[in-house]
Amino acid sequence: MNEEIKRQILAKIEAYGTIVVSRHIRPDGDAVGSTMGFTRILRDTYPEKKIFLADDDFADYLAFCGGEDDVPEEAYADALLIVIDTGTRKRISNKNYRLAKEIIKIDHHIEADPYGDLNWVEDFRSSACEMIADFYLTFQDKLKLSREAATYIYMGMVTDSGRFRFEGVTGETLRLAGALLDKGVDYETLFAHLYTEEPASLKFKSYVYGHIQITPNGVAYLYADREMQEKFALSFEDACAIVDELNSIKGSLIWVAFIDNEAAGNIRVRLRSRFLGINDLAIKYHGGGHNMAAGATVFSVEEMRALIEEADELLGAYKATHGEAI
Ligand code: AMP
Repeated sequence: MNEEIKRQILAKIEAYGTIVVSRHIRPDGDAVGSTMGFTRILRDTYPEKKIFLADDDFADYLAFCGGEDDVPEEAYADALLIVIDTGTRKRISNKNYRLAKEIIKIDHHIEADPYGDLNWVEDFRSSACEMIADFYLTFQDKLKLSREAATYIYMGMVTDSGRFRFEGVTGETLRLAGALLDKGVDYETLFAHLYTEEPASLKFKSYVYGHIQITPNGVAYLYADREMQEKFALSFEDACAIVDELNSIKGSLIWVAFIDNEAAGNIRVRLRSRFLGINDLAIKYHGGGHNMAAGATVFSVEEMRALIEEADELLGAYKATHGEAI
């Protein structure tokens, strides 16, 4: 069935003269890599078409990837919009998305909002970039993949899968990644960008390690309140990244970062887990995502405490039936 959708997507791409590619708000490596990579494939394959990358948002830590285009509003009337890695329409980072003539959704989140005229959703994929790599390989006799495009797509695969560690990574993931490496992915430069950090960021991390809280059943959490963000002059994205500092604590199978979002007047929640799912919990708190990586929003410190308590109960119940877990 998915082979048929892919064929339909290619047919649409071939039929349109103007194509706009978009991703989700607060873009991550997968959102940036999939859209940059796909845009590049389209531009190299169809030099006669107008191909735009439209994004209202920006992630400082991915600035090395380059920017997006200004798309004239009138271009949308005849345009095909391809939205990648974006589960719901409210997360599309393109205020003009409704102006497009047709929309194609390419995504690996659990389907909650089939907003496309065509929806190619494979929630078993470890990244949207994996789908883009698969799309390229399916039609490699027609599409052109440069080294740069392969590097973008590889970036999304390695970042969204936690360097090929997370649930969803399969033999197929690595075969697709292998096909990209065969195109000469520049992983030395890529990993230098992904791993190096400013000395100030290390000072912040040492502070973070000193302030991690752990509930009786082992839920690790941290609240990056306004004071903490100001003390370390953190960008919102920097503050959000603290979730990754909680991911390897023995017995803490659920970890949660709360980040005060002054601009939005709420608290962003980033939930992660191993062995047990937290998506249902995220859905209860105005969010969702994947089984073991989801986002949510709370609107007060009381609601934050309620979420922590529920996470603690969830982990307690899991340990009661599965024993003390790593
Ligand atoms: P984050 O912690 O924001 O990186 O989110 C983890 C995963 O959950 C990502 O795949 C997001 O796209 C998804 N996600 C985050 N927030 C939401 C939300 N409010 N609704 C649906 N999915 C979300």
